[in-house]
Amino acid sequence: MLRWRKNHPDHRPDLIAYLETWRKKDKRFRQEMNFLRQKTIAHREDIYKNEALKIAQHYALIGLEDFDLRSIARLENAEGQDNELHQAARRMRQRVAVSEFRKWLEIQAEKTGSEIFKVRGKTSLIHHKCGHDALPVDKASIMWRCSHCDELFDQDENAAMNIMLVAAGTPANDQVMAKVV
Ligand SMILES: [Zn+2]
Repeated sequence: MLRWRKNHPDHRPDLIAYLETWRKKDKRFRQEMNFLRQKTIAHREDIYKNEALKIAQHYALIGLEDFDLRSIARLENAEGQDNELHQAARRMRQRVAVSEFRKWLEIQAEKTGSEIFKVRGKTSLIHHKCGHDALPVDKASIMWRCSHCDELFDQDENAAMNIMLVAAGTPANDQVMAKVV
């Protein structure tokens, strides 16, 4: 608005007053929006903190996939190539801030003395039942059909099962393994 007034010396004073009212209102809306955003984030953190504590109190061993979810929310990977994760999934992960929940799991496990066990490799792709690469046709879909044994499975559940098998010392395939610390 200030720039406009400077660049248009022929402005109508009544329009300046109108614009100024709008500017103030807009500023107030932005402040309110920011306040609500901060409040919501704090509320989310509270939920994560409490849920992580419940898990840490209940389980002595907690398996996590060893990757940084924050990097998945980015558009490009470290090498500057397009992140291949489906856009909708990426947006969702940004929204829920899964890395925050993982952070709280580690903090609470430290408190309760539970062990965090990290697994890396093709946790989603290797079908935990037959041990083969499922080679899904549509990676963006939640449900994948294994190209080897034809079973339909939930890719996230499959990843969790793979992590559990590694923790138990019986990985489905050597492409899923414990992270060497
Ligand atoms: Zn299979």
